[in-house]
Amino acid sequence: MNPKIVYSPDYDIHFYGIEKLHPFDTRKYSHAYDLAHKTLGDRLTQATITPMQPVSDDDLCLVHTHAYLESLKSTSVLVRALEFPPLAMFPYSVIEKHLLLPMRLATTGTIMAAREALSGGLAINMSGGYHHASADKGEGFTVFSDMSIAIQKLRAEGLLSRQDKVLLIDLDAHQGNGHERIFFHDDAVSIFDMYNGSIYPNDGYARKRINWNLSLAPGTRDAQYLNALKDYLPRALGEIGSTPKLAFYIAGTDIYEGDMLGGLHISEEAIFERDRFVFETLANAGIPVVLLLAGGYSHDSYRFIARSLEYVIETWARS
Ligand SMILES: [Zn+2]
Repeated sequence: MNPKIVYSPDYDIHFYGIEKLHPFDTRKYSHAYDLAHKTLGDRLTQATITPMQPVSDDDLCLVHTHAYLESLKSTSVLVRALEFPPLAMFPYSVIEKHLLLPMRLATTGTIMAAREALSGGLAINMSGGYHHASADKGEGFTVFSDMSIAIQKLRAEGLLSRQDKVLLIDLDAHQGNGHERIFFHDDAVSIFDMYNGSIYPNDGYARKRINWNLSLAPGTRDAQYLNALKDYLPRALGEIGSTPKLAFYIAGTDIYEGDMLGGLHISEEAIFERDRFVFETLANAGIPVVLLLAGGYSHDSYRFIARSLEYVIETWARS
């Protein structure tokens, strides 16, 4: 296996310091990468590729409606999607440069990671996983549906056919309603979603699209969480029919017990075990996987991401 890490220091969001008022740790990307680099050094540098260009308008149009993309030129629409009222004080050009550009760059990163996973078996984009954005609406801090765009881009490039199975494994604490709406009528995409059923977005329509729906109670703890994952994920792989050509693993660390939004009670050790189990299960099944960071609102999140990143390079770069 030849794991690739897709990363740019420009994934971080810097916004005159007011980003510190937002629950999102907007610099967890560089914090996680830099921490892993202390352990891995050149091994990480050699595995890293860097997106240079923000995703193009044409690629955004593979998933999002023209009307929605036009609406993003309005500050008020962005403020609503990003759930951050202080943004309204800033000129649009500033919001575009400091918020939309990093998200567009991360979307390019998800496309690159998907291509790399197809050829090398495993790739991590050190951002992305914007799983609440749908074709015509941004919400829950997310504007562009990066994994949906990556799937449509790979189809357009002929790297995936319309019939090739794609598996989305969404283990962020929140239901992934965006991609569930986008792929509502697309049977080639199978969705495994395990989330806290008592918090946002509570999207009943999108929930109907989930193939393996594991709605957890608030406060769910390690044993129950890991037992559910270890029971249902292999079962899902058995039920899916043909082997997926590609999987996306939306690895939100907001399941952490110290997270201010996720409402679950999962320890650092169990987060690591979750990631390890997903990688090992997919590797044993011969399914290439792209990991995306998604949510994680604790100031410890970057440490968990770094640990899984170190695991990937130390374990899978050799095999
Ligand atoms: Zn989340």
